[in-house]
Amino acid sequence: MEDVLVIGAGIFGLTLARKLQRAGRRVVVAEARSVGAGASATPLGVLAPHAPDNWNPKKEAQFQALASLPDYLAELEDETGMATGYARCGRLIPLATENQRAVWERRIVDAVENWRGKAVLERVERPDPTWLAAEAAPFGAMFCGLSAKIDARGYLAALAASVGDVVRVGMVLERLEDRRAIFAGGERIEAERIILATGADAFRHLPLAESGEPAGRGEKGQAAVLEIEGDTGGRPIIFHDGTYVVPRGAQSVAVGATSERYFERADATDAQLDEKISWATALCPALFGARVVERWAAARPRAADRGLMVGPHLVLNGVSLATGGFKTGLAMAHTLGVEDLE
Ligand SMILES: Cc1cc2nc3c(=O)[nH]c(=O)nc-3n(C[C@H](O)[C@H](O)[C@H](O)COP(=O)(O)OP(=O)(O)OC[C@H]3O[C@@H](n4cnc5c(N)ncnc54)[C@H](O)[C@@H]3O)c2cc1C
Repeated sequence: MEDVLVIGAGIFGLTLARKLQRAGRRVVVAEARSVGAGASATPLGVLAPHAPDNWNPKKEAQFQALASLPDYLAELEDETGMATGYARCGRLIPLATENQRAVWERRIVDAVENWRGKAVLERVERPDPTWLAAEAAPFGAMFCGLSAKIDARGYLAALAASVGDVVRVGMVLERLEDRRAIFAGGERIEAERIILATGADAFRHLPLAESGEPAGRGEKGQAAVLEIEGDTGGRPIIFHDGTYVVPRGAQSVAVGATSERYFERADATDAQLDEKISWATALCPALFGARVVERWAAARPRAADRGLMVGPHLVLNGVSLATGGFKTGLAMAHTLGVEDLE
């Protein structure tokens, strides 16, 4: 019998595998496709706080996660010698109406109180029109100094290097029993503790909620990488109405993402992504004429209450789950605790 079997080599599975190893456990990771084959390999990599007003425990937890992430990543980079591309680049939020300006200006005071000096929220009267289109920001923009970005694929590669040679690919989970996982082809692995970290796939292994609804579902997102003229280093992220423009350094920008409840294939892209690119181009003139170099899609793990789902399986013994990252999994993964699993 194995000590711990983690199923899924996304950001949740790899993070927990590393933490469990550090706690002295022997860990095997079973993955259907390859490291980062799911939502975690998003080209966006935005690490953005919730709005600073109406503060609540969920916002506080995310604030603490954003605050602790740089030290965590520095330690991972030191250990592996690999870059995660973390940068506190900030985020511009264009103000399209007088009302939006009033709402966001009130939030400046909330940010002083709730972000506790970690970063400012401030109004920019005239953002650089070569980066944020003047027509998109008739009332200027807000600059959120707490927002950051990360190279999600670099982050995954560093975690994979840290956990070492414990990932077995080509292992497609079919069914779970008490302390036992059954994979396609019939292979069975027994373990003292099994961690179900298969992202959006995890919900099908969970009992229905009291309401009779599934515990969660996949929500598809599409994103693209564009090649532009000039270096985007030092530029802030732009965010407006569900559309992100994320500078990725030399001549590279990521845009996204769609939010789709109904879909046939999680990894296919379509005209909804073209529309997203058009929205992004209307926000950021630097994208005019840009070449699309990657089209990407995956399903986000969205729990019914949109929260993280980390803890023991309600029915199966020796099985724990770690999913529900939804739109902030990259920001939150490092806060998952081994002690929360049991
Ligand atoms: C378009 C898009 C943009 C996003 N942008 C951001 C962002 O900017 N910032 C942010 O913080 N978050 C973002 N997210 C959300 C983030 O990607 C997720 O919250 C996070 O990646 C979830 O991690 P996970 O490890 O739970 O799942 P996944 O990364 O999906 O990992 C699950 C792993 O399990 C494997 N697997 C699945 N089924 C099986 C099976 N049956 N057997 C074995 N293995 C299996 C998969 O191949 C995969 O490797 C985005 C998501 C999408 C789709």
